[in-house]
Amino acid sequence: MSENKVTSNFIKNIVAEDLKSGQYKEIITRFPPEPNGYLHIGHAKSIVLNFGLADEFNGRTNLRFDDTNPIKEDTEYVKSIKEDVKWLGYDWDELHFASNYFDEMYKHAVLLIKKGKAYVCDLSAEEIREYRGTLTKPGKESPYRNRTVDENLELFEKMKNGEYKDGEKVLRAKIDVKSPNINMRDPIIYRIAHAYHQNTKDKWCIYPMYDFAHPLEDAIEGVTHSICTLEFEDHRPLYDWIVRECEMKKVPKQIEFARLNITNTVMSKRKLKKLVDEKFVDGWDDPRMPTIAGLRRRGFTPGSIRNFCRAIGVAKASSVVDSQMLDYFLRDDLEKKAPRTMAVLRPLKVVITNYPDGKIENFEVENNPDDPTAGTRNVPFSKELYIEQEDFMENPPKKYYRLFIGNEVRLKSAYFIKCNEVVKDESGNIVELHCTYDPESRGGNSPDGRKVRGTIHWVNVETAIPAEIRLYQPLIVEDGEDGSDSFLDNVNPNSLEILNGFLEPNMKDVKSGQKYQFFRHGYFSADPKYTKEGKLVFNRIVSLKSSFKIKK
Ligand code: ATP
Ligand code: MG
Repeated sequence: MSENKVTSNFIKNIVAEDLKSGQYKEIITRFPPEPNGYLHIGHAKSIVLNFGLADEFNGRTNLRFDDTNPIKEDTEYVKSIKEDVKWLGYDWDELHFASNYFDEMYKHAVLLIKKGKAYVCDLSAEEIREYRGTLTKPGKESPYRNRTVDENLELFEKMKNGEYKDGEKVLRAKIDVKSPNINMRDPIIYRIAHAYHQNTKDKWCIYPMYDFAHPLEDAIEGVTHSICTLEFEDHRPLYDWIVRECEMKKVPKQIEFARLNITNTVMSKRKLKKLVDEKFVDGWDDPRMPTIAGLRRRGFTPGSIRNFCRAIGVAKASSVVDSQMLDYFLRDDLEKKAPRTMAVLRPLKVVITNYPDGKIENFEVENNPDDPTAGTRNVPFSKELYIEQEDFMENPPKKYYRLFIGNEVRLKSAYFIKCNEVVKDESGNIVELHCTYDPESRGGNSPDGRKVRGTIHWVNVETAIPAEIRLYQPLIVEDGEDGSDSFLDNVNPNSLEILNGFLEPNMKDVKSGQKYQFFRHGYFSADPKYTKEGKLVFNRIVSLKSSFKIKK
């Protein structure tokens, strides 16, 4: 697939160089999510990069669940992650669970102990932190650092056999407590957690730490380029140390890139889980969520997400991408594909007083003016129609070209109508407009050259299909990203607006996830959750216009 090409970036150059020099014969990448939440658009960036690279260089990509922390993980997440990767259009070569390597990892830990490169430490978590020192203060050696190999082997085995409580002991790599890199100051590589694991069940009560497990997972699978986000840059010396000291035959290379951040978007599973758990949203797949499941339910297409991920590029420097850029790629994708239709979101009834009672005309309208192969549909027209409330004004400002008393507009693809009278209820609300039509303007064409500046859309009352229309605003007003939970204060209380509108009659059998361009309103998609229940709900994916321009 040529579409899968990643735009030129520094990682691609490294890979090309490594193949040329013969350092690696074939490239193997991996996408290694922890199954502790649903994937989000940030993960999509990593997926597109990893799969795209392998694809371009005829390599392979594994999906590996980095399930070394039993407490937060769940099989629900495993299932959703597989589904989302597939939906994005990617197929992994091998499927792995890091937990399947627990036996092997244990052996490597024993090897480190035997080489005098790891020891069991009895300091508490707090003491370890204190002993570790800071950026300006060197660390201190643990009093347990010089235990004999035999003693360490015995204690580690007892840890494995469940003879100690959580936190009572840990296994640490013996590296250098005075290293300028804090990650090298005897990092913890195994901890005790008497916890049920979604894959290994109750087999283990000790679990490897990420910094120990990840390089081993990569090396075991023969991954050549282990691509991760920038916060692991300072962990790279430890990554290399583990691979070397564990005497792994295959040596992977860690490369870091900047994680994706998007304006008005929180993008960490921990935060997203909070939004779900505290019911700010209707689950992980709420259409306002930046999760793949949420974007899918909202109506985003896999192609628009892939194109977005390729366009943002891959760099070493962190930056924040404008959320409108994703919208741009959705419009770009759907412009040619989505059929047009008319939908009235906030209805106002129009009665055409000079139109014959009981008469129905059918207008044949193109489904997509940009695509003649999309065909046509019949749009019925009669005496009573719905138009948008905002397409009429009693006291219009200058340059308002839609309906007001005495003004004429074009009803899209139908007739010119002129407004003559406003009907109000007792409290003064407008309930109906009385208009007359010009039979000579059939098809929306001027009969005598007279100009009509406004064109508005409409739906025939008698055949209208009622539907719920959901409009969205950003879920997060602004994101502090300071790591605290203060982002909950920035949740937009008006992120969802539910309207009861009307659709053309041919919309009664829409299928889940079907996408349309609603004339003047934007792109909409039938919400799968409600379609399943037989209820017609459309999500606005994006509006039609934006000031955002992509730099070419
Ligand atoms: P989170 O903080 O959202 O839980 P994570 O990095 O802990 O993210 P993992 O499940 O460990 O999530 O990530 C799987 C892969 O996706 C990793 O290689 C990680 O680097 C990458 N990734 C996660 N978030 C982003 C992001 N915002 N941009 C780019 N890549 C990301
Ligand atoms: Mg994580």
